[in-house]
Amino acid sequence: MSPFTTQRRLAVTSLGEAKLIGEIRRWLSTASPRPPGGIGDDCAVLAGSMRDQLITVDPVIYGEHFDDSVPARGVGAKLFNRNLSDIASMGGRPRAAVIALALNEQVRLDWLREFYRSLATIARQHRVPIIGGDIAHHASGLIATMTIIGEAPEDRPLTRQGAAAGDWIFVTGTLGGSRLGWHYKFSPRLAEGQWLARHPHVRSMMDVSDGLAKDVHALTPNACRAALDGKALPISRSARKLATTSGVSPLHHALTDGEDYELLFTLSGKADPAAFIAEWREIFRRRLTCIGRFVKRRARSPYTDELDLASVHGFEHLR
Ligand SMILES: [Mg+2]
Repeated sequence: MSPFTTQRRLAVTSLGEAKLIGEIRRWLSTASPRPPGGIGDDCAVLAGSMRDQLITVDPVIYGEHFDDSVPARGVGAKLFNRNLSDIASMGGRPRAAVIALALNEQVRLDWLREFYRSLATIARQHRVPIIGGDIAHHASGLIATMTIIGEAPEDRPLTRQGAAAGDWIFVTGTLGGSRLGWHYKFSPRLAEGQWLARHPHVRSMMDVSDGLAKDVHALTPNACRAALDGKALPISRSARKLATTSGVSPLHHALTDGEDYELLFTLSGKADPAAFIAEWREIFRRRLTCIGRFVKRRARSPYTDELDLASVHGFEHLR
């Protein structure tokens, strides 16, 4: 459904700002606590915490991240989950969210209702209250931006730094073909991220948002290259399906499509990848694959079928 309508009585213009905020509070219901903890004052108030705080922000923009083909509930889920995925990728626990909306007067009320109801569902599911927000006018469209505050794991937030030559490269789940629907249906890997952050042999982590081919560079130590085993990559069913009509290979989809929101992380080269996978399987059913290793830039390949990452490019913003 399009988020916009030319029929005045169906659009936000029929309510005005004050009544719209009232509606939003109703739609969010128990997902938004009463002030001073929730919507309705100049600031939201969040209780202090002993741990380091994680803060992340990400938008969904009409025409950029979604269009008329994505249901309003899918847009809400995507907004919330991509922010949660960033908290997951540092091993954190989400605590609270705020949301800023920029919209024109033609946005449909029923579209907004479904959008906020999906936010409320996810807020309850992960126990992340929506404690505040803002509404602003934006003449040409619809943008929703969410900020999530989270708590770092006890020992350390798991960052993108920390891998060394010889370390193993792992990815959860499967990759590619997100545009067939995964990008608004995925669930953030919060439990997995928290477990990985506690594991002494896990050294660095991120979530796959721009495509493995591009994202893996962010974890690659200086003077090293990511040697990926061409036979090991976990290619999704959607990637294979897309490849039947797109003219590029399933492998290429897996490497470059992006929006997979799986966890990409590195394990100490001293650890045994098979033993690590066995430990994982005791707790999680989700697929986990060792896809390669960091080696010195000019070192011989550990694989007979190493992927040539220089020839593929992931999604690049602002280009
Ligand atoms: Mg990220």
